[in-house]
Amino acid sequence: MPANKNLLILPGDGIGPEVMREVRRVIDWMDRRRMVTFNVSDDHAGGSAIDTYGTPITDETMEKAKAADAILFGSVGGPKWDKLGFQLRPEIAILRLRKELDLFANLRPAIVLDPLVDASTLKADVIRGLDIMIVRESTGGIYFGEPRGVESLPDGQKRGFDTETYTTSEIERVSRIAFELARKRQNRVCSVEKANVMQSGLFWRQTVTALQAREFPDVELSHMYADNCAMQLVRNPRQFDVIVTSNLFGDLLSDLASMLTGSLGMLPSATLGAIQPSGKRHALYEPIHGSAPDIAGKGIANPLAQIMSFAMLLRHSFGMEEDAALIEKACVNVLRNGLRTADIMAPGSARVGTGVMGESILRELDKLAA
Ligand code: NAD
Repeated sequence: MPANKNLLILPGDGIGPEVMREVRRVIDWMDRRRMVTFNVSDDHAGGSAIDTYGTPITDETMEKAKAADAILFGSVGGPKWDKLGFQLRPEIAILRLRKELDLFANLRPAIVLDPLVDASTLKADVIRGLDIMIVRESTGGIYFGEPRGVESLPDGQKRGFDTETYTTSEIERVSRIAFELARKRQNRVCSVEKANVMQSGLFWRQTVTALQAREFPDVELSHMYADNCAMQLVRNPRQFDVIVTSNLFGDLLSDLASMLTGSLGMLPSATLGAIQPSGKRHALYEPIHGSAPDIAGKGIANPLAQIMSFAMLLRHSFGMEEDAALIEKACVNVLRNGLRTADIMAPGSARVGTGVMGESILRELDKLAA
């Protein structure tokens, strides 16, 4: 088959390159076994780009990112680069990618895999089978709204302020993604805001309601206040299918939801942009964990979040649902066989390093595809 799927891989720093190596083995396996060929290009981002090029991400890398069909990102940062100036922070790489590619919808699945049901701090009965998708608006809202600042008041005090702002199109484009995702899942969207105390929250609710009536009457829509949603996520998280919310509330709720699953090394994410006139959608996939400098170079990092980020890439950028599900199944089977990296170690399991975890996934893929 021709290599018509252009993939840019940016492993980054710390454990990024270690866990990305295991994804490369999965890609090679797909090349060999499934007759899917990717046109893969690699580059530096973050601290490794500062060391190589003197900047967290070069204009050339940005051009490659714009031309790619999808970007697989590792993680950036570490103590080595902590003392550099504001413009040389490794995180600039990811911020610039999000901004220039207009990646406005952050998708965070919170899935409890059966073999890890005891890794959560919540009771197994509450989270068994959990499968939520949180869609967070990620380029607007109070983190970017103007005016913002700190001003001096006549009485000698100071006043700090930020502005929550959303336009109709900003709300509609992220909600559209949530409704489209729901159609492929349990067909339910819960829109979360504070319509009771915020004008922008009430506007969010009205806009989502109108969009659903106009374009998605087949999808069930409910509304919830953000504070109640936080409580419900801990009390009864399985009531949710897809949650759509603003940047600020999504930041809090997606962290809360991801911890229901118990481990940072297990959690993938996607950030999607608008569909271009060419029909292509910019998209970046990354694990939610950072570069874990405390364990970098030791060969013990859990590669599953990075591998499952690749599975999300196959599903959302290339429509390769079957292949994505195959990779996810291989991950579950390896865990079911009792293999664990240190971060998810449990009594009675076998502790393995990054490379053995990766190899075991390839073996499971062999079995599943036989
Ligand atoms: P972190 O996610 O890197 O690590 C938190 C803890 O989880 C550490 O104890 C680490 O060892 C463990 N951990 C994380 N991923 C793991 C994995 N795959 N397998 C096993 N254990 C894992 O968060 P941090 O320590 O707050 O940040 C470290 C660096 O990463 C900082 O420079 C931070 O800025 C950066 N960071 C980058 C991103 C990103 O690139 N998107 C995200 C978060 C943090």
